[in-house]
Amino acid sequence: HPIPVVTVDGPSGAGKGTLSSLLAEKLGWHFLDSGAIYRVLAVAALHHDLPADDEESIVPLATGLDVSFETDKDGTRIVLEGEDVTDDIRTEQVGGMASKVAALPRVREALLRRQRAFQQAPGLVADGRDMGTVVFPDAVVKIFLTASAEARAERRYSQLKAKGMDVNIARLLTDIKARDERDTQRSVAPLVPAEDAVIIDSTALEISQVFETAMEVISSRL
Ligand code: C5P
Repeated sequence: HPIPVVTVDGPSGAGKGTLSSLLAEKLGWHFLDSGAIYRVLAVAALHHDLPADDEESIVPLATGLDVSFETDKDGTRIVLEGEDVTDDIRTEQVGGMASKVAALPRVREALLRRQRAFQQAPGLVADGRDMGTVVFPDAVVKIFLTASAEARAERRYSQLKAKGMDVNIARLLTDIKARDERDTQRSVAPLVPAEDAVIIDSTALEISQVFETAMEVISSRL
């Protein structure tokens, strides 16, 4: 039997990260946050002052990306070339840059093997945009988690507010819509549910309800 994979795809802010880490913890499986890889690449490109459309320079950067995920009792630290970038990768600026470099076909190709290396026993929960469609087409369960842009902007607003950051909800909504547009319209690996995906709309659901729904689907297939 191949090592089982559960994929969780969907737009930013739908709650994929929270759901995926809860599932990985419950199942005792590995966890891949593929967006973090694109975000680390964006940080590296910004460090090197590379414009987002400089595919010639960004492809080799992606191929040689020196990133590691170091998990201990305090959680997972993301390290780029020896430097802890765990917090740096979460800014809106980096998210925007990540979605631009992610639109480059050869960049996505260069990161495929790195992502597939996370498929290790006893199993993997993979969070992203194209986990079920491109990276793990043979996944046993494919979840597509979505929510209205307004609900996602409100959640993001509360998270940033709780961190004491000064944020503008209208601006957040504009950014989310722009990112959705880029992620769904790009020619390579656009954000679409896999044909065999189970779609969960979290707009009116608590995270516990999303988790229960997902666990029922997974339990029925394992
Ligand atoms: O999920 P997260 O917001 O961290 O991802 C940042 C960006 O990376 C997304 O907007 C998307 O453009 C890109 N991404 C992608 N494919 C993935 C994961 C993320 O294109 N599997």
